[in-house]
Amino acid sequence: MSRYIAAAAIRGANRIVKEADDLLHKALKELGPEAPIQFPNTAYYLPVILGFTGLEVSKIGDLPPVIERAKALLHPQPEGSIWLPYLGETLDCGVATLFAEEAIEGIRFAYGQQPEPMPGLQLTGTSFTSPDTEGEEAGGYVNGPIDDIQLRSWGIQLVDGRMPGFAAIIGAAKSNEAAVQIIRELQQRNILIFLSGSVNGRSIIHQLMEEGVEMGYDTYIVPFGTDTISAIYAAGFATRAALTFGGVKGGQARGMLLYNKFRCFAFALALGEVDDLKYATAAGVLNYGFPVIADTVIPQILPTGVTQYEHVISMPFDDIEGKTDAEKARRLVQHCIEVRGVKVKITEVPIPVPYGSAFEGERVRRADMRIEFGGKYSRAFEYLMMSPMDEVEDGKIEVIGPGFEDIEEGGYMDVGIVVEVAGRKMQEDFEPVLERQIHYFINGASGIQHIGQRDIAWIRLSKTAAEKGFTLKHFGEILHARFQADFGAIVDKVQVTIITEPELYAQWLEKARVAYDFRNKRLADMTDESVDTFYSCTLCQSFAPDHVCVVSPERLGLCGAYNWLDCKASFQINPTGPNQPILKGEVIDPVKGYFEGINDYAKVGSHGSVEEVAMYSAMENPMTACGCFECIMMIIPEANGFMIVSREDTSMTPAGMTFSTLAGMCGGGIQTPGVMGHGKFFIVSNKFIRADGGLKRVVWMSSFLKESMGEELKAAAEREGDPDIIDKIADERVATTVEELLPFLEEKLHPALSMPPLF
Ligand code: SF4
Ligand code: ZN
Repeated sequence: MSRYIAAAAIRGANRIVKEADDLLHKALKELGPEAPIQFPNTAYYLPVILGFTGLEVSKIGDLPPVIERAKALLHPQPEGSIWLPYLGETLDCGVATLFAEEAIEGIRFAYGQQPEPMPGLQLTGTSFTSPDTEGEEAGGYVNGPIDDIQLRSWGIQLVDGRMPGFAAIIGAAKSNEAAVQIIRELQQRNILIFLSGSVNGRSIIHQLMEEGVEMGYDTYIVPFGTDTISAIYAAGFATRAALTFGGVKGGQARGMLLYNKFRCFAFALALGEVDDLKYATAAGVLNYGFPVIADTVIPQILPTGVTQYEHVISMPFDDIEGKTDAEKARRLVQHCIEVRGVKVKITEVPIPVPYGSAFEGERVRRADMRIEFGGKYSRAFEYLMMSPMDEVEDGKIEVIGPGFEDIEEGGYMDVGIVVEVAGRKMQEDFEPVLERQIHYFINGASGIQHIGQRDIAWIRLSKTAAEKGFTLKHFGEILHARFQADFGAIVDKVQVTIITEPELYAQWLEKARVAYDFRNKRLADMTDESVDTFYSCTLCQSFAPDHVCVVSPERLGLCGAYNWLDCKASFQINPTGPNQPILKGEVIDPVKGYFEGINDYAKVGSHGSVEEVAMYSAMENPMTACGCFECIMMIIPEANGFMIVSREDTSMTPAGMTFSTLAGMCGGGIQTPGVMGHGKFFIVSNKFIRADGGLKRVVWMSSFLKESMGEELKAAAEREGDPDIIDKIADERVATTVEELLPFLEEKLHPALSMPPLF
C-alpha cells in the first residue's frame, strides 16, 4: 500500500465522517429522529449499511449507531516517519467513508435534495411510448440510486453473464471526444455505466449531455450525481446484487464482499484529478475487490500474493498510445477490462455502426431520422419460419427490390424481413420464440430503432447510421450473426431476405399473416389439459435456492419472462439447463390444479421444503416465489377477496403495505397461503386462481395493470361472465385502505362480497 494513498484516503475518510456526523446532528434537530429515510423503490434500506452491518435504516433516528461504527473504523493519519503496510487501516477507512456517504445521501433524501437537479437532462426509461414525444416527458434530474425493479430486470442477464457487470466512472474525461468513446466501448460490451463526480465543476454527465448521448436505464448509462458522494450508489448496487442474486443476507459482510470479488465484474475509473475524498471512496471500493484505474499520474498499488485484488492502476491519458482522444479512450477501456481479468465476449456483427445490447434502448428522433420502415406512413413486417435443410443456404442475404438511396431524407418505405432457419433440432413451436428476438437483435445496432413485431414492426434508421454506410442488407447481417451466435444449438442455417419489391412484398405479407393467425390460435388453444408436460424453471435458484417455478401453457413464470413455449425451447437449446420437462402424471384435483408428477417434482426441486403445489390456488399450497414476481396478490379478509399490486406501483395498498414491503414477505421460496407472487398475464388466464373464484375474487388492482392490459382484461372479464368486473375492482386512485375499499365495493356491488368465504 502506498503511503501517499493511505494518507490521502485516511484524511478523506476522517473529513467525510465528520461531515456526515454534523449533517446528522442538524437533521436530528430540524427533522427529528422519526423523519423517514428511504431510497426510492428499494426493499434494501440503505443497502451498503445493510450489507455490512445488518442495520435497517428507515429513519433519521436509526443513523447514530451507523455513524458510531464509522467513527470506530477510522484510523489516525500515518506518522510521517514510519513505514507500515497501512492496508488494513486504509480499507477500514474506506468502509467508514462508504457509511458516511450513504448516510449523507439518506439524509439528503429526507430533505428532498436527491436526486440532484440537472436542467435539460431527460433520461430514457422503461415507460417508452413513441419516439415523437420530445419535450413532453418530465426531466431535469439525474437518476440517483437504481431501483429494485431495474436491478431485477437486469438480473437474469447479470446472473447468466450476458451483462458482465458495471463500470463506475468518477470525474470528467480529458475531452468530450474521449468521454463519448469511453462510453461507447463499454456499451458495446454490455457493461453498465454509472456516472458520478466532477473535476473543477465539470462532470462526465455534462460532457455526455453536450454530445447528445442518451442516458438512462435503456442505454445502460446511469448518472448518479455530480459529486463524489453519489458514487455510493454504485456500491449500493453491488451490495444489492449480492443480497438479491448471491443468497447473502444483510450483515454478512464477508459473503457480500466475496460475492462481488468473484462474481461481479466491476471496476472504478477515476477521470481527472484525484482528491482526498476520491481516494477514500476508492479505498471503500477496494473492499469489494474492484480495481480502481485512474487516467492521471497517481501512485499505484499492484497486486501481491496477499493483496491479490487491491489494484490501483495509473494510466495517464496523455501517455496512452493513439493519435486521437477517441483512440486513447478505446485503449483505456481495454486496459480496464484486462485489469479486472474477465474475458468479455463481443458478438462480431459485420456492420458499419457500433453494436451491443446497450444500444437497444436508443431512440431515433424524427429530426435525426434518415428513413423509417413502418409506423404511420408505411408498413414493415418480419417473419421467421423454419424450412427444410436443403432449402436454406446459411449466410445468404438477399435484398429484393430497391434500397432507400432514392428516398428523400426523413422519408419512408415498405419493407419485409423474412428469416428462414433450418436445424435438426428446430421445431415449428420455436418460430415465434425466435421471431421475437428480431426486435432485440436489430435494436442492438447503434442508430437503429426497432419497435413492435410481426406486421406492426416499426424501424427507424438515423442519419448517422446511413452516413456510415448502413444499408438494408445489414439487417440480414445482424440477424444471421446473432441467430448463429445465440441459438446455434437449434439453428444450423440462417438465410435472410429483405423485400421491398411491391409484388413480392405483398405475397410474403399475406403468407406471414396466415402464419401469425395460425400461431395465435395455437397459443390460445393451448390449455393445461392439452399437453402432458409442464416445465420447471430453476433459474432463480442461484439466489432463492429452494424456489421452483412450474410453467404450464396457462400459467407463465412469475417473472413474466418465461412462458411454456419459451421453456420448451430453452430445454431444447440446453437440455441440462434450468428448464426441465415435468410429466403431469395423474390428475389429483383438476380445479385446484394438483398433479401427481408436479407434486413429485416440487418436492425434489424445492429440496423438500414444499410437499405439494396447487397450480390454481392462492389459498392452498400456492406456488412459491423467488423475488422476481411482476405482481403480488394478497388476501384482504374484510373484503373476502384479493388485491393485486404490480411492481410498477409504489403506492400504499389496502393490505397496509407497499409492494416493496410485501415483496420482503413473500419471496425466498416459501409457501405463504393467501399471498402469492405471479406474472401479470396469469391474471387473464382461464386458470387464474380458479379454485378460489378466479378474476371475480379480485377486489383491488394497481391502476397500472388495468391500463397496460386493458384489452386482455376486458376479454377475460367477458369470458368470466361479468363484463363489467374491471370497473368494480378498486385501485390506488380510489382506495389505499380497507376503510376506503369496502364502501367502494358495496357501491359497485362487487361479486366477492356475496361469494362463499375464502377460509
Ligand atoms: Fe425465475 Fe421463475 Fe422467471 Fe424462471 S420463471 S426466471 S424461476 S421467476
Ligand atoms: Zn425469480
